Amino acid sequence: MTTIEEARKLPAVDQLYQSVEKITPVEIVEGTGDYWGSSTANGQTTITTGKSNNPAASLFHELLHAEMKNSGYAQYIYVVTTNDLGKNVTPILEALDNELQHHRFYPKFVTAGFRPDEFYSPKDKSTFRKTREELRKMGPRTAPQAFFLNLLTVIAPGGFGSDEDRTKLRFLLDARCGATTKEIMADVEAEIESWAKSETLDHGPTIKAVLERLGFNGVWVGKSKSFPNDGFFIGQAFDLADAIHV
Ligand SMILES: [Zn+2]
Repeated sequence: MTTIEEARKLPAVDQLYQSVEKITPVEIVEGTGDYWGSSTANGQTTITTGKSNNPAASLFHELLHAEMKNSGYAQYIYVVTTNDLGKNVTPILEALDNELQHHRFYPKFVTAGFRPDEFYSPKDKSTFRKTREELRKMGPRTAPQAFFLNLLTVIAPGGFGSDEDRTKLRFLLDARCGATTKEIMADVEAEIESWAKSETLDHGPTIKAVLERLGFNGVWVGKSKSFPNDGFFIGQAFDLADAIHV
């Protein structure tokens, strides 16, 4: 029996598999890496397997990503900008694309009976330790954009750390970042919380609010390369002729 057949023996997993497959056929690619992954595009879902302590949990996690995209969650991953700072938007968008989905579907994962640490790869066991080390190298002069990527890790749902570890790490972040950035972090965290609780599948307004609060401008963010119709501006609108990075 394959890993996937074994994983589908759990009714919750099999049910979700079937409901995803009704909208996008599922192709399984056997991978050898540390992480499972998936993509849902052009009417097809591809799930790549990886190392896991519980393949049923990992498959369920990837199916939840597919379900969200099948329900209309767009992926805002294209950036056009008029300034150097705007180039930093790309890694932030990639992280947000993933984490906003996690924040929304994590309750379903727990309801299906899986443990918080099964939400991630065993490789992520040291995530909190790495974040702590990273934060210790940062200070009040570090850009809020850099703190934000660590904030996303600290507030990510599930995982290996205890609530106490998480609270300590949140305190460390606040202590390292200085008063102004601390306020920014509280505001962007509130944006993410409010997205998690809402029912809309359009996270465009959340991305816009977060990027503006992080101090970006002269940036266009799109769900396709179709500029400017398929996206929105952070700050003033601009013409393609003024862009330095497409
Ligand atoms: Zn995920």
